[in-house]
Formats: sequence, C-alpha cells, structure tokens
Amino acid sequence: MQTKSKLLLIVALMLLALTTATIINISLNFRDYSIKSAMEKSKLAATIVKDGLTAHMINGMMDNRSYFLNQISRGDVVKSLWLVRSENVIKQYGEGMNFETVRDAIDKEVLRSGSSVKKIIEDANEILLRVSIPYKATVNHANTNCLSCHDVKIGDTLGVISMEFDISEMRTSGMFTILKILGINIVFLFIVLFLLNYYISPYIKLFSNLQDGIQKAYGGDFTHRFETSVDGEAKDIVSHMNTLFSKMQDAFGNIKQNLGTIIPQMNMSNDNPLEQSKIIINELSDVYKFKKTIELDATKFDVYMRLVNIIKSKYNIVNFALYEVNNTTNTRKLHYNTNDDILICKEGVKEDASLCRAYRTKSITLSSEFPDLCQSCKKEKENYLCFSFAINGEISLIISIIGKDKEEINDKNTYISRIRHYLEAAKPVISSHILMGKLKDTSRRDSMTGLNNRRFLEEVIERIMSQVGRKKEIYSIMMIDIDFFKKVNDTYGHDVGDMVIVEIAKVLKENIRESDLAIRYGGEEFVIILDNATVEGTLEVARKIHRAFGDLSFDVGAGDAMQKTISIGISMFNEDADTIWKCIKLADTALYVAKTTGRNKIVKYKKEMSEGKDVR
Ligand code: GH3
Ligand code: MG
Ligand code: MG
Repeated sequence: MQTKSKLLLIVALMLLALTTATIINISLNFRDYSIKSAMEKSKLAATIVKDGLTAHMINGMMDNRSYFLNQISRGDVVKSLWLVRSENVIKQYGEGMNFETVRDAIDKEVLRSGSSVKKIIEDANEILLRVSIPYKATVNHANTNCLSCHDVKIGDTLGVISMEFDISEMRTSGMFTILKILGINIVFLFIVLFLLNYYISPYIKLFSNLQDGIQKAYGGDFTHRFETSVDGEAKDIVSHMNTLFSKMQDAFGNIKQNLGTIIPQMNMSNDNPLEQSKIIINELSDVYKFKKTIELDATKFDVYMRLVNIIKSKYNIVNFALYEVNNTTNTRKLHYNTNDDILICKEGVKEDASLCRAYRTKSITLSSEFPDLCQSCKKEKENYLCFSFAINGEISLIISIIGKDKEEINDKNTYISRIRHYLEAAKPVISSHILMGKLKDTSRRDSMTGLNNRRFLEEVIERIMSQVGRKKEIYSIMMIDIDFFKKVNDTYGHDVGDMVIVEIAKVLKENIRESDLAIRYGGEEFVIILDNATVEGTLEVARKIHRAFGDLSFDVGAGDAMQKTISIGISMFNEDADTIWKCIKLADTALYVAKTTGRNKIVKYKKEMSEGKDVR
C-alpha cells in the first residue's frame, strides 16, 4: 500500500474511532439525562396526585377523584395512572372504583415495603418509566389526620400511586442527535481527508521521486533529476540533491567508459557502472601490484613463475602449461606445466612452433568450437584452450589450458582477457629481461671464439660458490695455454694466430659436456670448469682435448701446414683449495710446472708445487 493511502486510512480510522466514542458518550449521557428528567417529573406528578387526593379526602370529594386522576393522565407526560388500595383500606372501604387493586408485582412490593419503586420498562416500541409511590398514614394537625378516617397506625401504607411515563421520545430524539453528530463527523472526516490529501500529496510525490532517484543511484545511474511543487525546505533539498547527482554523474557516469579505454578487453555482464568500475579498479590495482613486483624480479623466468601463480591462484586454473616460442628459430620451449597430462602436443611442435594452432593463428584455440580443432593435439576429444601472446618480435608465450569438459573450458575462456592484462603488464618487463640478457651475454662472451669470457667467469663463480655449500658439488679446473704461441704470430702473422685460437675453442667445446664451462681466460689461455668430475675423469677430458688439438693441422699458406701443442694444468675444487679462485691459481701453478718442464703435457697440481709460494 502506498504511503499516502496508508496515512489517509490511519487518519480516517482515528476520526471514525473518535466519532464512535463521542456517539457512545453522548447517547449514554443523553439517556441518563432523559431518565433523570422523567424521574423529576414523576416525583412532581406523584406529589400532585398525593396532595390532590388528600385535598379530595379532606373536602369529602373522594368520589370525584376519578375526574382529577383522568385530568392528570390525559396529558402527554403521564401515560397511565392508577391507585392501589391497601388491604386495610379495602377492608374498611371496599375495592374502590376502577378496581383500585394490585395490578402487578411492583404494586405489591411497594404496599409491602412502603418504599417507592422506579423502573424503566423498555421494548422495541416504547420506553416507559414506571413509578410507584406509597401513600402513608400521617397526622398533620393543621389540616390532615389520616387516622380520623382510617383504622390504621401512623406510617402504615394506605395505598400506592402507580404511574407510567412514556419516555420513548428520548430514544427518538437520541437517535436523531446521534445521526446529526454522525453526519457532522462524516462531513468533518471528508474535509480533513481532503485537506490532508491536498497538503500531503506533494510531499508524498517528492518522497517517491527521491526514492526512485536513490534506487537508480544505487544501481549506479545518476541521471535522475528531482522535482517538487512544494516551496521552502523541500525545494532546497531537491536543489541540493540535483547538484549532488549531477556531480556524481560527472564523477561516475563515464567511469566505466573511461576505465574501459584503460582495459579495452574488459568485458563484463554487470550493468551497474559502479559495480563494474569497482571490479575494473580492483583488477587494475592487482595488475599494477603485479607489475610493480615483477619489475624487481631478477630474470624473465621469475616473471614467468609469477604469471603461473596468478593463473593458478587468482583464476583457479588447475591444469595448464606455459611455453615460450623463439620466433626467430621457430622453436618452442616448455617453461612450466602443472602436470604431465597437460602436455598434449605432438612431438614436432617443439621444433616447429607453427604447428601450434594458437601460435600460428594468433587466436584462441578452443576445442569446444570444433572437434579435434588443433591438428597437433595427440589426444582425441581432449578439452583444451590455447592462446598465444607476443612479448616482442623475438619471443611469444603460449598458455595451454586443459579442462575436464566443455563447460570448464568455456568457463576458463572468460578469464583469458583478464590473464592477458597480466601478460600485457609483464610484456615490457620480459622484453627488458630479454634485452638485458642479450647485453649481458655480449659483455660476457668473447666474440672471436663464442666462448664465455673472464667477466662471465667472475659472475659464474659467485653463483657456483653460493651453491657449493648446499649441493656439496666437486668441480675440477683446467688451465690451458698454447705452447710457443708468440711464434705463430711472429712467423705467420696474427690472422693465423686468430685462426688457431678459434680452432682450439672448437676443440674445447666439442670435448666437454653441456654442464661444463669453457672460458677464454686471456689471449691464448683457457679455463675449463668441469662439473662434478673426479681427478681421473678430468685427466681423461684433458687428454682428449690435448690429443684433439695436437691432431689439428693448420694451413699456413703456400701449401704449408703447421701443428701446435698445448699445456694443461689441473686442480680440484675443493680438494686443493676452498675457493674456485684459489683453484684457478693452483691450476695456473700446475700449468707453469707443465711449461717449465717441457710443455705439451698435462700436470695435476700437487701441494709441493706451491711450496714457498703464497697461494691464498
Ligand atoms: P708459452 O709456451 O710459454 O705459452 O709461450 P707463448 O709464446 O705462447 O707465450 P704466451 O703464452 O705468453 O704468449 C701469448 C701471446 O699470445 C702474446 C700475444 O701476442 C698473443 N696473443 C694474445 N691474444 C691474441 C689474439 O687474440 N690473437 C693473436 N693472433 N695473438 C694473440
Ligand atoms: Mg702460450
Ligand atoms: Mg699464454
């Protein structure tokens, strides 16, 4: 029910209750008053009858009393009047005229008790006031002496005067009064309701107008403008509300659109701009925090792991893999997988990334779109969702998600645009890591041989040293130097010297494992660090290198060829010394021994070699 109707109903009910209470009150008072007034009349009439009868008696005119009594009861007030003789009087004078005997129980009662009785007798047609008054024997020396005519004692009841007064008019006029009050009250009620409606309606209208506007604002719509016909404070409120809403509209009205330009792919079903804005701002804030965090990450692999964690924890994606594609070599490398079941691509994709449909088409490959959509998927009827993201011209990422059914895949698809925001944020950071990596690589790599240089060694040694404690690994160090190299330069020139350096580098690379390191330490000096090698194993590698280089024949022009030898010094970390640098020095010491004892040989460091030298 509307507020206005409720209010009017309450007022109407209150006025009706008031009217009813007034009518009940008035009718009760009216009845009391009417009965009291009839009583007064009855007393007067009784006195007149009593005195009149006494006068008739004194004057010896009792036989004419019926005229007197008829005169009294003939009017409108006294409906009937009769006399009742007591037993004593009947005994003495007979029943009298008009059967002046007991007519009912009231007569009997008054005769017996000597007290008057007043009673209202009411039926549907009339209301009667019945009054019966005893007529008692008295002695009044001035004019009356009842005992002179009656054989009674003073105070005995001689008879009863009974009268009936018709007070029906009281009911009629009471009803009429009530109707008048009711009529007046109904008119008053309508006037009140009309005035109330007239004055309250504009406020109610304003109230519901305010309610509508606030309801819309709750949904993020501030376009509502308030209006009212009421002057004064209401007009001020409306004006303030309109100012507030227009400011809110300026602030929030276009916020969704504006935020949408920041995150173009943001696509949400929610129509409430405030709610949408909240979601977008939360998303932006999360992406911003993510960006700030990855900016401080040391490598691109750390960034990849943060992306992995976001996909896992924020979007609850359980089964997925992250690949990196080298656009130049068209090869794909797996960087992370939640489990091995996620690896659904055929073998060839690793070497030829364009076999990956998501990478090739640069679009989302959704298994629910078409059965067996990706030709490179080795599992039939697999539910997958793969998409690629280009970091820069060189590197792209592929995220491959597996779901248990179509629904799960379609559900995860709704997260892709949001995952792209994180990728977008990570893009410059990953790019800069790639660039930095390249720059570092050039500064750490010897351009002539492609081997790492001394600078790299310095960095690597730091890393190795920090791992050593944990992994308890053994490293062996080889220091290699070409014998009588100066002569090559001197005899055949620097170009031939360079060629020899390039060739020895190849020999080194070919004879060590991927986990080992070959470093161009100086001009024609090389350091090799073998990971997890024994003395015997190291000697074995040294011999292979020594032999392979010794077997090389260098074309020095004019049909001539040249062969060279190398000397190798070996030390073991951490058998011979407790730091790599010390071990390098010790390997150099062993090399020195090899050089000074005839060259073209492999010498393992022994303690005696350092005697008298400070090798700290
Ligand atoms: P040893 O047997 O004692 O080692 O005698 P060696 O002549 O080889 O003496 P050393 O190892 O000291 O010789 C280093 C020479 O290597 C000196 C330098 O001219 C030459 N050299 C250093 N770097 C290069 C380079 O990049 N190219 C060429 N062609 N020569 C280089
Ligand atoms: Mg040399
Ligand atoms: Mg040298």
